Amino acid sequence: MLAYKNQSKTPLSSLGEFGLIDHLTNTFAIQNKSTLKGVGDDAAVLQLKNKTLITTDLLVEGVHFDLTYMPLKHLGYKAVMVNLSDIYAMNGNATQITVSIAVSNRFTLEALEELYAGIHLACKNYKVDLIGGDTTSSTTGLWISITAIGEAKTEDITYRNGAKPNDLLVVTGDLGAAYLGLQVLEREKQVFAVNPKSQPELDRYTYLVERQLKPEARKDIIKILKNLKVKPTAMIDISDGLSSEILHLCKQSNVGCDLYEDKIPLDQQVISTCEEFNMNSTTVALSGGEDYELLFTISPSDFDKIKGNPNLTIIGHMTAKNAGVSLVTRANQRIELTAQGWQSI
Ligand code: ADP
Ligand code: MG
Repeated sequence: MLAYKNQSKTPLSSLGEFGLIDHLTNTFAIQNKSTLKGVGDDAAVLQLKNKTLITTDLLVEGVHFDLTYMPLKHLGYKAVMVNLSDIYAMNGNATQITVSIAVSNRFTLEALEELYAGIHLACKNYKVDLIGGDTTSSTTGLWISITAIGEAKTEDITYRNGAKPNDLLVVTGDLGAAYLGLQVLEREKQVFAVNPKSQPELDRYTYLVERQLKPEARKDIIKILKNLKVKPTAMIDISDGLSSEILHLCKQSNVGCDLYEDKIPLDQQVISTCEEFNMNSTTVALSGGEDYELLFTISPSDFDKIKGNPNLTIIGHMTAKNAGVSLVTRANQRIELTAQGWQSI
């Protein structure tokens, strides 16, 4: 179960700060023309052609991740995805990241190599340059702060506040799997605590665990929308759960929303695992979070361009603000949506 088990254990102190930074970053190649200078000077130098997008996330061990079941390589990958997802949610392209870490002395060089192997893979897969960061010590485990930089043409940038009544509400991929993956891993952790010889039984949950440990930011969707000539009227990425993100869109756009329960896309493993765990799959999709899918609104006149696209599901439509934000259930009941899921009225 222990996610991180490495034979050699080189203490970080044996390298010194500069040796360590060089060791961790020297395999990263610059892939974007806009990066004029990356790691190695007092500051990186960029020349972006368009508007600049910047976003930051801070991940703290014990709060945002648990290294008992999160392999460090996956953590590195996911930490980058979380940030890239925010750039794509602005309808932009991510081009650079900085990575700052604080590490306690229980981490070895091999552990940080794993973390940076995940960051490296993410940079390669998403064509993003690592251009700097900071390295310091911590008394309380591992902290990772990543800043992503991206660009978008002025006319392409998509805010949360542009949705209009009658716009269609669209979501990418499927929802709830990452949350269930976390439940599965938590359960294995408890079993392991009681019986350290137990082997994890994860075969039936591969998709769920993968969605939790190795999420992919939806860069592909930005391209698909461009090809379809669809510019969303508003967009947000799903980090906290569908329900909370819909409320953000509605609040900032000054509109209401009707969300249809029977339209929410769910993977078969989500449905079967919800049955097994005695959970409501709609609640899981609404409140689970960490899906890193995109949620956006489009003008009804763009319906023909997106209909039938297997990546996109229309799950509702926006309404006048005074109509409120509602879930329309399978039984055709109207229930007010709250950030936690829903509340009966
Ligand atoms: P300074 O003391 O001027 O802040 P540092 O010694 O902290 O410089 O960093 C030297 C170079 O290494 C800089 O380019 C910095 O951005 C980069 N760097 C430092 N820590 C990291 C890290 N954890 N990951 C990637 N780059 C880093
Ligand atoms: Mg520094």
